[in-house]
Parts: sequence; C-alpha cells; structure tokens
Amino acid sequence: MRALLFLSLLALAVWGLVRYLERTRPQDLPWTPLDLAAPLGRATAWKLASLEGDPAWCRRLLTLDGVKFEAVPDRTTAPGCGWQGAVKLTGSEWSPRGPVLTCPMAAAVTVWQRHVVRPAARKHLASNLTRIDHYGTYSCRTVAGSARQSQHATSNAIDIAAIRTVRGEPISVLRDWNGTPERAAFLRDIHDGACRVFGTVLGPDYNRAHRDHLHFDLANWNFCR
Ligand SMILES: [Zn+2]
Repeated sequence: MRALLFLSLLALAVWGLVRYLERTRPQDLPWTPLDLAAPLGRATAWKLASLEGDPAWCRRLLTLDGVKFEAVPDRTTAPGCGWQGAVKLTGSEWSPRGPVLTCPMAAAVTVWQRHVVRPAARKHLASNLTRIDHYGTYSCRTVAGSARQSQHATSNAIDIAAIRTVRGEPISVLRDWNGTPERAAFLRDIHDGACRVFGTVLGPDYNRAHRDHLHFDLANWNFCR
C-alpha cells in the first residue's frame, strides 16, 4: 500500500515537472512545437533537423516568424545533386543576395542569426548586424578528400565568410579568427553558438580548408569543430 502511494506521488511529481517545463522551457523538450522566436534550448537543433519531414510546416514557421523568402521549384542537376522543398532567403542582410537553402537550413540560419549573431555583435562589438557575407550554399560536389556527397550538393549547407555590423567593417573569419580580442571572441561565439543550432559546424580550427569560413549543415549530430 505504501509502495503504491509512493509510486502515485512520484508519477504526480514527474507529471507536474513535465507540465512546468512545457510552460517555461519548451525549447528543451523535443515533443513541443518549434518556435523560431524562442531562446535556444537543448532540443532546438533536433527540432530544426526534424523539419525535413514536414516542408509545409517548415515554410509556415518561416512565414509566422516574418522571414523574407520565396519558395523555389525542385531541381535535379545531376545524380544526387539539386534541391527539394528549398527556399530563397530574400532578406537584405544576405550577401550575395538570395541564398537558396533547404527549408530546415533556412529556419536554422534564421535562429542562428537572431539568437547567436545579433546578441554576440551587441556583446563583443557594441553594434548591430547588417550583413552576412557567404560563399554559397549549393555546389554539386563530394566532401573534400572523400567520396561522400557534400551537404552542399543538396543546398543543405552554407559557408559563412564574414559578418558586417552597422559600423560597416566586415569581421572576417580569415582575418579575424585570430584577430583583436573582441573580434576573435565574437567569431568564436558565433561558431560555438552555431553548435547549438546545426548538426555540423566546421571552422578554422578544424582544417585549413575552413580557414576562411564557417561551414554549417544539418547532417550528423553535434559535430562541432
Ligand atoms: Zn561548406
């Protein structure tokens, strides 16, 4: 009888805790719906990667969040290359304009920009983000030095070269990774913060091929170098 009472109280306590977390920290719980405006949580990267299975919901999330984008027709350019359910980000911060990304990646870069880059720019540079310089998203190729298809082959990756703030000067991965303390700290923050958003994050400390950019994609799980 006592054991039964104990188990009932335990179940009630667990239920109460889960309901409390659902209200206060939904971003930590994998079964709650993703909200791009919510702070980063333990389940954010998992929720973003899970958008792959629901393109319509993914585009709806971008719309609800006010992200500027256009849907892009599916395209196959070669065996294993092309994109499906992709979107073009049309916000003025992207340079070159209009990167084409899978919808989950578009949602992920939106989350990264809002919850990682903007706060880091205010913290380290006392400035606001105005532009993101990138080296592209789509490229029909294998991973350098392997036969494995790159995530770029399906527009499921982006290479970030530099961030510009309202002061105008770019903070470049190539020049500033080991630059002034505030610039280096800013770049490390936006790299480390990306690890809470994307499945794979590669930067200058990974290898020489990444000395001038940060690579993000949604494959793997927490591969952060
Ligand atoms: Zn890349």
